[in-house]
Amino acid sequence: MPVFGAVDFDAHEQVTFFHDKETGLKAIIAIHNTNRGPALGGCRIWPYPDEQQAITDVLRLSRGMTYKAAMANLPFGGGKAVVIADSHKDKSPALLRAFGKCVEKLDGCYITAEDVGTSVDDMVFIRETTSHVVGLPGGSGDPSPFTAIGVYDAICSAVLYRLKKSTLKGVTVAVQGLGHVGYHLCKLLAESGAQLIVTDIETELLERVVKEFKAESVSPEKIYGVEADVFAPCALGAIINDVTLPQFKCVIIAGSANNQLECHAHGEILAEKEILYAPDYVVNAGGLIDVYYEGPNYDLDVVRAHVRGIHDTLLDVFHKAEELKISTSEAADLIAEERFRSISHPEIAVSL
Ligand code: NAD
Repeated sequence: MPVFGAVDFDAHEQVTFFHDKETGLKAIIAIHNTNRGPALGGCRIWPYPDEQQAITDVLRLSRGMTYKAAMANLPFGGGKAVVIADSHKDKSPALLRAFGKCVEKLDGCYITAEDVGTSVDDMVFIRETTSHVVGLPGGSGDPSPFTAIGVYDAICSAVLYRLKKSTLKGVTVAVQGLGHVGYHLCKLLAESGAQLIVTDIETELLERVVKEFKAESVSPEKIYGVEADVFAPCALGAIINDVTLPQFKCVIIAGSANNQLECHAHGEILAEKEILYAPDYVVNAGGLIDVYYEGPNYDLDVVRAHVRGIHDTLLDVFHKAEELKISTSEAADLIAEERFRSISHPEIAVSL
């Protein structure tokens, strides 16, 4: 099981495996790059079928955080943690405290937060054993509403660029995943007059969105091929792949899910098919921007203004791709790499 030799290793600075005998905790924390500041990234609790999948996930997610922080102009590097467990069955205060101890051992090089399988309330238990955690209740709180605002702005930006429309009235958006981000996104979309086609594997969440926002529901496997202007993936990663690509009828893809492209080549195929792809790590930075401002001087308007910047950052990406005749995913990578590769800015590192 290679780590240094893994396709997704991509010059990670540190990958640490943790085990706690008492709670059965198995965690991996990956730190991709700290040139811009300490590595910040959520803790995902997921029942990975095997360890290789957990390693692949943590490497891809932490790398994505480096690019995300750079594109959002934040003084953070990229990191991520995965805990191999089922959050519904295995998550307990003891497990979360044990995870906090692992974070503490990294001495501030990695700062944790919530992700799939963890909640704001879970951060309270983690805080008992480490100070290197953000997104606590009473702090900036749940970052998902800000992530949703960023996704909404990204959709507006892509619709303006691709469809030359300055409003979402009458635009059809297919939303995959109606959890923390997907629900808030549907609310914003419905309020602006967009038509919604939605799916989730959880029937309750699906019924709620159908009822509240007059959305049309489809089964999870049908969502890729629906007649929609925009596809907004807000569930899990790697959903742009050889199986889904031939199904897409949309002209824009913009959603919150991390690592939407199964591999780099799928970004090129989207460009060939003239589907405008809004790179995930640019689109979903709203939550990260929100936690950056956590603290006594937290100001909602300042956070909102920073998140709204995603709209114009994306326009820069689209224009760069057009100018250089490259895919939007490559254009975003180029801009991000310029921002984190050659510099080391210990002076902009924030203390949290
Ligand atoms: P969540 O767990 O609250 O919601 C995900 C939803 O997707 C769940 O309702 C789940 O039932 C559904 N789902 C899972 N598999 C599905 C499938 N095959 N088809 C349809 N639905 C499916 O997670 P979230 O916080 O809303 O985040 C969604 C995505 O956005 C994740 O990829 C996450 O990493 C990413 N993201 C979230 C944030 C944030 O602030 N929460 C920030 C950045 C990125």
